[in-house]
Amino acid sequence: MIEDGYEQLKLEIENCRKCDLWRGTKHRVIGEGPLDSRIMLVGLGPGYYENIEGRPFVGAAGKFLNNLLTLAGLERGKLYITNVIKCYLPDNKATDEQVKTCSHYLDRQIDMLKPAVLVALGSVAAMYLLGKYGLTYSSMSRLHGKIFKVEKPGRSMLIAVMYHPASALYNPSMKLLLEKDWRKLGEILSKIPV
Ligand code: SF4
Repeated sequence: MIEDGYEQLKLEIENCRKCDLWRGTKHRVIGEGPLDSRIMLVGLGPGYYENIEGRPFVGAAGKFLNNLLTLAGLERGKLYITNVIKCYLPDNKATDEQVKTCSHYLDRQIDMLKPAVLVALGSVAAMYLLGKYGLTYSSMSRLHGKIFKVEKPGRSMLIAVMYHPASALYNPSMKLLLEKDWRKLGEILSKIPV
């Protein structure tokens, strides 16, 4: 049962002390959304409001993400949303070591939920997910809005690379770019069975 495995994983994350980030953490953000969702969004890690609420993307970036999802014709409640890092990231920056240590939880989430589409939000998630599936990360300015096909034994999967919603909060030109990318993603997803 996927639910049993997921509850076990939640328990492990709740009690994890594998890196120092647990010390400043009020609520670990494991993920949210239906476990049978075909689309998984992956951000960097919990910020201030996410740490308080224990939910992903609830601050200003989360509100903008909700707008982007609407533009793409996607319903947030039907998506599974998580992060590479599960504990509070005070400066919205993770070290390579923290990514290496925490990302095996994300690996297990992907193995359990088997999404048809992974959406990487921002450079850290993009670098991690592309690298995990043998693809090369170059830069967000080159890769944003692109979708990669991954063939795995028994199933195939898409990885979409998007700028992190926070990157547009104080930059109107980035906002337009993100809106364009999400509209395009919505069009592509509407034409394929996911
Ligand atoms: S960030 Fe990840 S690896 Fe570090 S303590 Fe939290 S759950 Fe564990």
